[in-house]
Amino acid sequence: MLKFTPILLAILYALAMYRFSVWRTGKELDAKSTELADPALKQLTDRLAASLDLARIPVYIYEIDPVNGLAAPDGRIFITRGFYRKFRNGEVTGEEMASVIAHELGHVALGHARRRMIDFSGQNALRTALIMVLGRFVPFVGVWIANMLTSVLASKLSRSDEYEADAYAAALLTKAGIGVGPQKSLFHKLDSLTEKRAGMAPAWLLSHPDTAQRIAALEQLESRWKTSD
Ligand SMILES: [Zn+2]
Repeated sequence: MLKFTPILLAILYALAMYRFSVWRTGKELDAKSTELADPALKQLTDRLAASLDLARIPVYIYEIDPVNGLAAPDGRIFITRGFYRKFRNGEVTGEEMASVIAHELGHVALGHARRRMIDFSGQNALRTALIMVLGRFVPFVGVWIANMLTSVLASKLSRSDEYEADAYAAALLTKAGIGVGPQKSLFHKLDSLTEKRAGMAPAWLLSHPDTAQRIAALEQLESRWKTSD
């Protein structure tokens, strides 16, 4: 019985962390966001909404600078102020913004946003449990192995989410008559927009897959759709 106590504690800890993360994320987003009111972007999101038989797709501006889009666990979609500014400056087109919104819709539709919060707290629980178990057999190095195993697993999970959300967005953008082009052109810009530091970590360890690989995956989808016409 005692043997299982650390694992039970880790599970309880994970549940509490999950509740807390959802609550904190919601509070943070409520305090720092407003609904986006941009006629040019609304015209595009209305086309996405029509393809999904929805009246409209509300999009919110999250008042932070780093260029990003995100889907909250409650299903709301956010574009950062920094990203919107790039659109207003003309560095990013409306269609490219629509491709980000479609990608985030994909995370919502496929249940990723909620799962990602679970992943985050689940990661902590898994790490804690692994440290407790491995630490007994291999002191010191056990902690290091536990951390590495957890990171590799987490990056694998989030990478597959990105490819799935990209594929969802590609299908939705195609149905809405916007096409996959803006998705690809944004990926070409993405590296410079986010000022990614190259060569910091091997590709398989990064939570976001390489943009070249994401473009290749989209092109594979496009060629498959063309041949099935
Ligand atoms: Zn994503």
